[in-house]
Amino acid sequence: MKLRLLNSLKDIIYPVLCNQCGELQQDGRYLCDLCSADFKKIGDDGENFCARCSEPYEGAFSENPICVNCAGLDYSFEFARSALKNSELARTMVHDFKYKKQRHLAGVLADFCRHAVEIDERIQSVTAGDGSESVIVPVPLHWRRQLCRGFNQAELISTILAGQLGITHLNLLKRDRYTSTQTKLVRSERLKNLKGAFSIRRRFCQMNDFKKVILIDDVFTTGSTSEACASLIKKECSKVENIVVVTVLRG
Ligand SMILES: [Zn+2]
Ligand SMILES: [Zn+2]
Repeated sequence: MKLRLLNSLKDIIYPVLCNQCGELQQDGRYLCDLCSADFKKIGDDGENFCARCSEPYEGAFSENPICVNCAGLDYSFEFARSALKNSELARTMVHDFKYKKQRHLAGVLADFCRHAVEIDERIQSVTAGDGSESVIVPVPLHWRRQLCRGFNQAELISTILAGQLGITHLNLLKRDRYTSTQTKLVRSERLKNLKGAFSIRRRFCQMNDFKKVILIDDVFTTGSTSEACASLIKKECSKVENIVVVTVLRG
């Protein structure tokens, strides 16, 4: 009785409302099931998507489809798996989370990532067993950008996801160089722009006996950020055998 009263009071003082329709949520999630269904999830509808970058594409189903963008590229990670298709709805949510300081959306975005992990057998093999060989690593922000934003969006998501999957969370990477926004640059320019931007916390490589890394970011666009991080991890942490990238959105 007392607990129910306390919960009712909490709902009045700090109500958890669906981010889309405003309905009061009893399960503490900021997105109701109905509104969640409006977000198009990659791989949910049996559509083809690129086995390397997750880009959905139309065409006859094949075992291991590779899109035209990935055909000539060599990545340092095994593959990148995005949870959501690029839509205005998904872009707006990621934008509100990052730029309007809506930190509470981290849980919603982490839920989308977890769903992608759960339906993708390739990632299941990375997280298989007791998870002791795997770590979850967020793409870092430069401290100046993090100070302005108040948080690192990838880290908020990766922390929640690590807890849900029971995998160690590790802030393995640092962003040493402040880079200008990459949105208008093509892939080759982005890669050049990111050269030397990241470094590794070597003691974490030495202290931990992990072989698999799940790298987390909010958006995968050209893959240049993921590539810069993955190639650095491969170079500096000799024990790492494979890296997969998980992002909320395929930009
Ligand atoms: Zn709703
Ligand atoms: Zn691709």
